[in-house]
Amino acid sequence: MPIAAPLSSAIDLTTRLVAFDTTSHKSNRALIAFVESYLAGHGITSHLVPTEDGEKASLFATVGPEGVAGIGLSGHTDVVPADPAAWTSDPFTVRQENGRLYGRGTADMKGFLACVLAMVPDFKRRKLKVPLHIVFSYDEEVGCTGVRPMIAELGNRLTKPRAVIVGEPTSMDVVDGHKGPVRWAVEITGRAAHSSMAHLGVNAISVAGRLIGELGAIEKELMALPPDTRYVPPYPTLQVTEITGGIASNIVPATCRFGFEVRAMPGLDVDGIEKRIVAFAEKECLPEMRRLAPEANIVIRQSNRVPPFAADTESEVVALALKLAGQNETRAVSYATEAGLFQGAKVPSVVCGPGDIAQAHTADEWIAISEIERCLAFLDRLADWAEG
Ligand SMILES: [Zn+2]
Repeated sequence: MPIAAPLSSAIDLTTRLVAFDTTSHKSNRALIAFVESYLAGHGITSHLVPTEDGEKASLFATVGPEGVAGIGLSGHTDVVPADPAAWTSDPFTVRQENGRLYGRGTADMKGFLACVLAMVPDFKRRKLKVPLHIVFSYDEEVGCTGVRPMIAELGNRLTKPRAVIVGEPTSMDVVDGHKGPVRWAVEITGRAAHSSMAHLGVNAISVAGRLIGELGAIEKELMALPPDTRYVPPYPTLQVTEITGGIASNIVPATCRFGFEVRAMPGLDVDGIEKRIVAFAEKECLPEMRRLAPEANIVIRQSNRVPPFAADTESEVVALALKLAGQNETRAVSYATEAGLFQGAKVPSVVCGPGDIAQAHTADEWIAISEIERCLAFLDRLADWAEG
């Protein structure tokens, strides 16, 4: 007989987890200590993968037989910043209203973490043949950087799961593909001059304009690729996201910095795009700049790369997630998760979690309690399956 889903426990745990302000730039150790002691209370040992300075840590724990490859339940503990002025109530105090839980991270993705933790007593009570691994990371919101050291330990200090379910908000749909953001920082050095003596300077902002023009041409080509209608929009996007340059209205600007990103679909030749913009800088811009100013330079540096995700079509985990979610069809999304990194480490992955991505990262972020219930039912069926 399946045990009734522990809804009140999941709501309580969501409240507890949200109360830890784990905005990515802050420490997540208090939250991790809470989870560690909660698990210890159920006789489960946590393995931590801390950062060098100890400010943050990932947590890996196994319910069921140790040393056996099980199903990983993966989520990040960090959240995006919340500006209290934009919120109706305190972002870190969960407010329950109209069947919803409001608070930073309720949807993305402490609601899922709470569901997993709320199911632990039930998981523990069962005779699991396939263990369930709790796989909690940090710094997902700043480029999926925190999960990487933990993934590096899989198969070494930590048991490598046979598959991972990433519980990012998909409204409990089964997601088997997503785009991967790749970001670059561009720094242009020209030469300053009095703006009345423009011919004596090298205008770094003008050079940035030429590079951005070339990026615009590449963007048009990406938009003209055969559309993949599983994605919205159905093409890889490319855009400039930040720019600064110049110090005064009467000085030829000597520096300009900008950032751009590509949101790549699986299979896109991202390195080809980088080569092209680097070649444009070297052939079309630098020679002219250096004729006047030998110190002129253009540095194009990749600052972050999250691999796109395409599930292994042969793997059991997509079929399993569909069965557990009671669905027939997968879909793809445009936002990134840690799934591509797990998949890259040869751990077949799928994304399925409670809450709507439309509420993620917003002021007054919320998750419907009905989504928590659906997730608990999903995890309950997973445990049925894991008992064999
Ligand atoms: Zn997330």
